[in-house]
Amino acid sequence: MVGVPFINPLSLEGREMVRQLGSLEDLTHDNPELIGIVTRSKSQDISDDQDIPRNHLELALKRLEWYVKKRNNPNFNYRKYAFLFQGDIEKFDTISFYLLSQAIGVKFGPNSRESRLMAESQGSLIQNRLEELNTRNREEIVLKALQELLSQGTLKWTFFEDLLSSRRIQLSDLVLDQGEVIMDQDDFRERLGPRLHHRDPDKMYQLLIGEELRELILIQMVMQQTENYMAEVHEKSRLMVEPNPLLLQLADGVTEILTQPTPSYTGTGKVARQSYRGPLNREAFPPCVKTALEGIKSGGRNDAIVLFITPFVSYARLCPDIFKQNVTVRVSDKDPQLQVVHQEVLPLIYEAAERCVPPLFEDQPQEKININAKIGFGMHSTLKLENEGETKWYTPMSCEKIKLHLPYLCRPDDDCKKIGNPLIYYNRKNWILSREQAESGDKKEDEGSSGEEVMENQDNDWIDV
Ligand code: SF4
Repeated sequence: MVGVPFINPLSLEGREMVRQLGSLEDLTHDNPELIGIVTRSKSQDISDDQDIPRNHLELALKRLEWYVKKRNNPNFNYRKYAFLFQGDIEKFDTISFYLLSQAIGVKFGPNSRESRLMAESQGSLIQNRLEELNTRNREEIVLKALQELLSQGTLKWTFFEDLLSSRRIQLSDLVLDQGEVIMDQDDFRERLGPRLHHRDPDKMYQLLIGEELRELILIQMVMQQTENYMAEVHEKSRLMVEPNPLLLQLADGVTEILTQPTPSYTGTGKVARQSYRGPLNREAFPPCVKTALEGIKSGGRNDAIVLFITPFVSYARLCPDIFKQNVTVRVSDKDPQLQVVHQEVLPLIYEAAERCVPPLFEDQPQEKININAKIGFGMHSTLKLENEGETKWYTPMSCEKIKLHLPYLCRPDDDCKKIGNPLIYYNRKNWILSREQAESGDKKEDEGSSGEEVMENQDNDWIDV
């Protein structure tokens, strides 16, 4: 049976492990116990020494590297990271978690891409670790970890805003009492038992609050705590004269992991039919986008530019395969310096706004703020990295919504059949155009691909994490 820190390093037990630590310097020395655990791990690939973390610092980086590689390439060699799922690595793993969180907190701060990836990687590790356990152990450890978290205070339903908006849970999945989410069985019995007539509260609890929901909530809470912890570290580090060089060294290691370009692969082991991510291909735009870019001459001007064109152009340029991804993405994940946003995305949106009658910003200059908000940078007149995350990066409207709210834009052509979103039209059309080009001899297919490969990402300065 694994301990709670293996799932939640920020648990009381996890914090105690860190309190008992000696100096940070010791954590850089080769640790035979850690090496032994790693090399003896079931299914571990030990063919390359580079894959074996020799001390806590290396282990900390391996934690993040695992997540980044898994996210970019589902066919990566899982056996190189099998040690991360062995319960006996718990003590080392917990300390490595703190090291990494501190390094990220100190160097990058809250709301950074690094801190978000750290929290996401912790969530993903928990999920994968739970999947390695048998049913009984899995249920026990989830209950134990959740009980400790829930004992720290009440939980408002608004805490699950992200899970709700990503539709990973529905509001109806949650059992609420006066806006508070009930997760604990005793709490359920006490607060709702008297109101359940002719029903066994315990059976109702099992029925309403299933294992899957408990796990989702546990993961979400640990991710939130991880983010809070990095924010606390960041605040404290601002009062320090100089952070520990080891943490800065570790932070450099994080940057190195995130700047390694990695290709995307399909689940079949073949190079994927990739969505084209490069300069926008106007030829592949669907009819509704082409019409909106010509400028809106009648009603619906603001919505067409702010709610429709802004998300479409930004995703088409930066993250055209967003609907294939099961993760939240920010603009800076794809365009860390916001160069593409400033040089390509905003100019195209502004151009369309200018073509409207009357030109959009002429009578409503505040709509520039709304455009910034729709790509995730809050309600500010200037688009700045430090504001990213204050609002969400809106995904493009579906065809159904366009037909309902902006019907004059929808003039379907043959390629509109069987697609539900203009962005999917764009990806598909790009693929068709590229294939036609290849067939006519203008474009060579890369050797070794399945023949479905379309266009490699040539923006090597982008970080695809
Ligand atoms: S069907 Fe969809 S993609 Fe085609 S024109 Fe209408 S809204 Fe645009």
